[in-house]
This record gives sequence, C-alpha cells and structure tokens, in this order.
Amino acid sequence: MRNLLDTPHDDFQAWLAERGLPGYRAKQVRRWIFEKRALSFDAMSDLPKKLRTELAEEFTIGSGSVAAHRLAADGTEKLLVQWHDGHKIECVLIRDHDRRTICISTQVGCAMGCVFCASGLDGVERNLTSGEIVEQMLRLQSILPPDERLTNVVVMGMGEPLANLANLLTALDTATSPEGLGLGARRITISTVGLPPAIDRLVERGNHYHLAVSLHAPDDELRTRLVPVNKNIGIEPILAAADRYFESSGRRLTFEYVLLGGLNDRPHHARRLVELLRGRLALLNVIPYNPVAGLPYETPKPADQERFLSILTTGGVNVQVRQRKGDKIDAACGQLRRSHLRLLPEPAPANSVASEELGSSGGV
Ligand code: SF4
Repeated sequence: MRNLLDTPHDDFQAWLAERGLPGYRAKQVRRWIFEKRALSFDAMSDLPKKLRTELAEEFTIGSGSVAAHRLAADGTEKLLVQWHDGHKIECVLIRDHDRRTICISTQVGCAMGCVFCASGLDGVERNLTSGEIVEQMLRLQSILPPDERLTNVVVMGMGEPLANLANLLTALDTATSPEGLGLGARRITISTVGLPPAIDRLVERGNHYHLAVSLHAPDDELRTRLVPVNKNIGIEPILAAADRYFESSGRRLTFEYVLLGGLNDRPHHARRLVELLRGRLALLNVIPYNPVAGLPYETPKPADQERFLSILTTGGVNVQVRQRKGDKIDAACGQLRRSHLRLLPEPAPANSVASEELGSSGGV
C-alpha cells in the first residue's frame, strides 16, 4: 500500500491516466482530504464506486495512528502519533482566541542535543516524510469542528526542521496550496537552532515563511553548553544568516530564548543579549523553562525573570514572554513521547485512541 500523502501529484495523475480516468479526479480526491476532512476513500461520495475501491486497494490516506490524545482545560490538545514502524512523534493544537495554531514535528527525536529538551535526549531516529508532516496537520485539523479552520502552523515540535528541509518544504507546499490547506506563508513559522546553509536555502526559495531562531544564550561558550551543535557553528554566522533572511523576505525575525533558572537568566546575560540584538528588527520570545522529569533544569525565579526582562526592555529589545499552554499535558517538546516510552514499552495497538481529560488548568 502506498501513502497517498507521500505520493507526488504527477505520480497520482499517472496512476489515474493508466486507468483511463480524467485528471480532475485527483482534484476531487484532494478536496475530500483537505477540505472535507475525509479519512477514507469510501467517504468520497462523488467518486465512482469502482474508483473508490481501486483507490482503497492501492493507497492509504496517511500512515499513522493516534496512540494518545490529551486535552487540557485551556483547550490545548496534544496527539502522540505512531507511525507504521512503531516510532512516535507529538503534535499539538493550541486554541488562542480566534487562532487555531498547530505545532508539528519534523523528525523522530532530534540530533541537536539541547540539554534541557526531552526530544533530544535519545538522539534522532529518522526524518519524517513530507506525508507524515502533512498528516499531523490533517489529524489536528480533524479535531476542530467543521466551521473552524487551522489558522497558523509553527514548525517547532520534535526535531530540527532545517535538518529535514526538503521534506518540510514539500509538506509546506501542500499547506500553502489552494488545493491543500490554503494557508498563507505568513501564517507559517519555522523554528530552528540556526543552520546557516539551510537558512540560505530558504532565502533562495523565497517562500517568506516566518523564521524563529532559538538562541538560548548570548555567547558561544554558554550556548555550546546548552545547544551542543553550536560548537561547529557559532552565534555570529547564525545571526548573519538570519540577517540575510530578513533582507530577502522583509519579515521580522524572531529569536527564542528558553529561560533556565540560574543558568542563562543572569543580568550579564541580558546585557549581552541587548548588545547582540541591537539594531535588528526582531522580536525576542522569552520562554520560562517548563521542567522535564529527569533533567536538572529549573524554571527561573519570578524576581530573576523580571530583572532579566527589565534589562532587555530598557536596552530597547522588543521582548515578549511566551505563554505556555497545556503544561499539564507534557506540552514541552518531547515530553509526552518520553512519558509513553517509559509507560508503554509495548506499542499501542494500531488505531487505538487513549484520550485523557485532564482536570486542572494547564495554561500559564
Ligand atoms: S529544543 Fe528543538 S532543536 Fe533542541 S533538541 Fe529539542 S527538538 Fe531538537
């Protein structure tokens, strides 16, 4: 069986042509999948019965199953999706006023090794295919009632998106296509630790997605301790690549800074950040750390966080504290998957859905 979400458009057209079928059938199938949220060919009622049968014999719509589905009182929902090979990833739907934002993964695990992150603890297993990336969007969209649509995508889940750039770009082509999810490029954010050659490929492609660069430290010594891949890159080349992206796209840059209690939240860190970001049209997202079981890092003390933010704003940095959503559902990257690796040594049965309604509010 072939995953239709991983089948190039031309291949599917050729498959139809081999059966003497008109090309518009492909458009109909896409409409059923992306607009009408069909999960089976049988639901595609305006296709001939024979074609529906042939499609079901040859193709699947997606290749995963939901191994866990968690809901938080603030409306955040997280899916743990299990692929055909047993690997699992996470993706999240975040409700915020009229926004319906999804956070999706690009790899099983992650090779970047950020010391505070649950996703990177076991390294990277493999890249997700473009179809697996699209499937996360469809599964999260299917949670919404029919009159609600996805509004924003952030590529900030498990994995380093720019380490799987080709598959990601193919998936985002589907997300932005009028025959796909029809999202504007400006509603899509790619978050990266900063891989300059891949950022330059984004410049060449000219899609003008929003770029968010995770800094987490204002100098190379500390950044290499927190984000080991920095050792071979360095902050300056990353900032230079981000500047090139800004010049070509005109899109304001975002820098992410996970604030770790006692580690990167000192006044001298804030002052150095002011120097680094001076003169750049950028937003600094400060994200108070969400503790991960088994890791020794702490949420910053409120007074330290306040002092850190005050130095930044006084220094002219455009800064915001990012709200955390769904803390009680292991919302930090990789936590749900790790809790299942510990709790569910046997893979959950295909198509099983374990839903957990959580009593207390998770949003901060
Ligand atoms: S924070 Fe992101 S880049 Fe770093 S290890 Fe986790 S998933 Fe990878």
